[in-house]
Amino acid sequence: MSDDHRNDEIAANVTRRRILGTAGGAFVLPSLSAGDARAASITPDTLLKQLRGVLDDEGVLTGDKISPHYLQRRQVDLPIAVVRPQSTAETSAVMKICHAAGQPVVPLGGNSGLVRGTQANTAEIILALDRMDKIETVNVANRSMTVGAGVVLADAQNTAAENGFLLPLNMGSRGEATIGGMIATNAGGEEVVRYGMTRESVLGLEVVLADGTVISSMNRMIKNNAGYDLKHMFIGSEGTLGIVTRAVMRLRAKPDGASTALLAVADDDGVLKLLRYLERALAGTLTSFEIMWSDYDQFVRKYTPYLPSPLKAGYTYYVIVEVTGSDAVDDLARFKRVIENGRQSGLIADAAVADDEKSREEIWALREQAGAAFSELGPFWGYDVSLPIGDMAEYGRRVKAEVTVLYPEATLLFLGHVGDGNLHIIAAPGSRAPDVKKAVDDVVYGAIRDLGGSVSAEHGIGLEKKNYLAWSRTPEEIALMRNLKAMLDPKGILNPGKLI
Ligand SMILES: Cc1cc2nc3c(=O)[nH]c(=O)nc-3n(C[C@H](O)[C@H](O)[C@H](O)COP(=O)(O)OP(=O)(O)OC[C@H]3O[C@@H](n4cnc5c(N)ncnc54)[C@H](O)[C@@H]3O)c2cc1C
Repeated sequence: MSDDHRNDEIAANVTRRRILGTAGGAFVLPSLSAGDARAASITPDTLLKQLRGVLDDEGVLTGDKISPHYLQRRQVDLPIAVVRPQSTAETSAVMKICHAAGQPVVPLGGNSGLVRGTQANTAEIILALDRMDKIETVNVANRSMTVGAGVVLADAQNTAAENGFLLPLNMGSRGEATIGGMIATNAGGEEVVRYGMTRESVLGLEVVLADGTVISSMNRMIKNNAGYDLKHMFIGSEGTLGIVTRAVMRLRAKPDGASTALLAVADDDGVLKLLRYLERALAGTLTSFEIMWSDYDQFVRKYTPYLPSPLKAGYTYYVIVEVTGSDAVDDLARFKRVIENGRQSGLIADAAVADDEKSREEIWALREQAGAAFSELGPFWGYDVSLPIGDMAEYGRRVKAEVTVLYPEATLLFLGHVGDGNLHIIAAPGSRAPDVKKAVDDVVYGAIRDLGGSVSAEHGIGLEKKNYLAWSRTPEEIALMRNLKAMLDPKGILNPGKLI
């Protein structure tokens, strides 16, 4: 993946209206733009002294003690400090100090986000959750797991598996992304079509508010309608409403093996029909439905020849389909029957079914590893949008046509978690100039606005898409978001300038 442009994944799943009317009505619209965070009322030295009073030596890093993994790539300006609390109580103590001083704070998980949500300037501190990385309990009877926010997804997945369960969240950044960061971004991934986004796997959480107040909402039940379900306010809030410090995650029964295939589909209609056919024929076991347009296939063949090509070139779409079930042998036999029936009925133009783990990994490599070669296309940007599934083909054609009119040499690749309406676009227009970026952004998000899609399916808004939020949210929605922010963080110190 290129250094500058890691924002390669993309998505959005909220159907939106065109932006009409004005903000207001019943809502007050407080202004909370990037520059609105109040400058701290104390000097950095005084702040550091106070922070060192509540954290140990490893808890406050400054200067060359701040290693690059806490920063944006190529960042040279350092924040005042990186603070690393070890508990909710320490996080609360840090926030009390920062609130009293009006000190801006940027929460940081695994730094794998793709929308510059963790970018911090020289007047801010970064609050890293990396020392809150304990898996506290796995509750077998309750099928739940209590974790610190800094637990890395892969570790949580492994612990769940060792206990006979599945944590049904998976994505290419599993070795870096933390549970806290995934909650803060409501991350999606490769299994959403069956298990939903991160939101669906969170039973409870603990959050520290801007003023240091601890909201311990560590619910362990699936059903709890005792008033507002407050956790949803923080899930997907990108560190702007509170700092997630712990969470109770919902576990599922661990499937016994996965059956995987790469399928070729001839036309637009065929993709939708195939999805509906597989959902019906595989009776709730369909876990992934990942689509790659023919341009993407050509790119993979040209730039990553080391990846295998299980199907011949030239089909309109390639789809990775995976099911998980309870009996590996019977499931594979049934899977093969369903695929064969699909071929005979003309829904599937060609198919390669993985017979072992190695061929399964080879199929997934087409989706997960080809990104390493995107930089061969020159400067590129990644987009993550979502729109109604039925509009995807038309959307792809429109974006390609409009970008190519502007930049005839541009390359555009389309892929996505289409089962959830989530599309990723790689756009390489041949230049990294800011006006080129804006022109491509306007095309990509303009078509989304016209089709009632969302400018962010799974990665969030951060700084990257802030100017386009209003293209998929109404003024009233944005006003309510700002009111919520103003109520929970009146001084605007939590991740200032991000999202809204
Ligand atoms: C190769 C690759 C593949 C990816 N695939 C996917 C994918 O399929 N689906 C998907 O959704 N995303 C994907 N991503 C994006 C990224 O991994 C997710 O957004 C992830 O949820 C970020 O987690 P993190 O711990 O790295 O958070 P960070 O990047 O550290 O932070 C992300 C945001 O959350 C805030 N934040 C972090 N931790 C906390 C906390 N404890 N409390 C409050 N706020 C917090 C930050 O301030 C920031 O705004 C991918 C990224 C890469 C590099």
